Amino acid sequence: MANPFTQAKKQIMNASKKLKLNSETTSKLMIPDKFHTFWVRIKLDNGRRVKFRGFRSQYNNALGPYKGGIRFHPEETADTVLALSAWMTWKCSLVGLPYGGGKGGIICNPKELSNSELERLSKQYAKKIAKHIGENVDIPAPDVYTNSQTMSWMLEAYESKMNISSPGTFTGKPIELGGHLGRIESTGLGVAISIREALKNLKIKIKGSKVIIQGFGNVGQNTAKHLEKMGSKIIGISDSSTGIYDEKGLDIKKLIEYKNSGKRLIDYKNYKKISNEEILVKKCDVLVPCALENSIDNHNAPKINAKVIAEGANGPITTEADKILFKRSIIVIPDILANSGGVIGSYFEWLMNRTGENWDVKTYNKKLDMMITNAFKKVFEKYKKIKTENMRNVSYMIAIERVVNAMKLRGR
Ligand code: GLU
Repeated sequence: MANPFTQAKKQIMNASKKLKLNSETTSKLMIPDKFHTFWVRIKLDNGRRVKFRGFRSQYNNALGPYKGGIRFHPEETADTVLALSAWMTWKCSLVGLPYGGGKGGIICNPKELSNSELERLSKQYAKKIAKHIGENVDIPAPDVYTNSQTMSWMLEAYESKMNISSPGTFTGKPIELGGHLGRIESTGLGVAISIREALKNLKIKIKGSKVIIQGFGNVGQNTAKHLEKMGSKIIGISDSSTGIYDEKGLDIKKLIEYKNSGKRLIDYKNYKKISNEEILVKKCDVLVPCALENSIDNHNAPKINAKVIAEGANGPITTEADKILFKRSIIVIPDILANSGGVIGSYFEWLMNRTGENWDVKTYNKKLDMMITNAFKKVFEKYKKIKTENMRNVSYMIAIERVVNAMKLRGR
């Protein structure tokens, strides 16, 4: 399995070369400002005491406070967190947010923990990082296997430890604690918007376009929902149990309800099942990987049968696969652009927490649409002009240049 931080560093090297950055600047871009690792100790429901490894990477804050999610995952590693925090730095920069990049995580299997164990784990984690975060310092959010409930517990632990009220320290909160209704769908909506823009530029009609979505959690579901609204036909989806496929289009509304009742797609009766490997290489107009890192590698990249790939997940395509796809003229909308709706939504929430404003969902979604559409335009124009680089490299060049300029201005 490719090491995500090695990939992230390769991507930085590549962009640095294109930007003709000197070696000192390039090496500064390849190390985090700070990396915290610690034990998170809790008592299980049966009284046994256990400890989990926790991380928070604060990658670069030249553009503003560190920003990025916290994930709970059994296969979490320090290098995954580092890579994800670098990607957050470029993501925030690319779409023009006043943020740097960060990321956190705990090595644990949340599916094996009870609700009260998860509460203790979340609170203990927040206490451990409390003195390193804050609404002007580092602002965590949900990521894989964490959600608005996790943010509520963390906010509670943070505020009580620091003896302050500071809802803007966490985003992705529930409405009652200062969250926004738009945030739940914002990542998926953003993915759909980026696909709409790509298809428009490639002169492919969105109406009737065939889409396959790998991963059917929050991002996959909302991408499907919004693409369907825009006229696409979702012909395949998958979760970790199986893929399901129907040339005529799937009933997304029913499938979302089914999935959110805690069931797995393998137990869904009506559709043809196909394996997780097979679904990725089925013919379609748009393929949207929304699961974890490294789903598309040098083994399956030669077999991908899509015109466009939009990275709903972070890092689903390896560097080698990227090259293969570019040679095969498959357009890849990179994660730092395609899934930036999540952090843009977080930014709106943070702004509202600080100003006391409250936008309705329509306003929220319209502003989100504008930000992603503008970022897309900027990337696509340069991509068309350069020709020899894929959209990821072009996005990196734009994003890294902005960070480097900010570092220079600060005299770093
Ligand atoms: N975890 C999301 C991401 O990777 C959102 C981060 C945030 O809202 O800060 O983009």
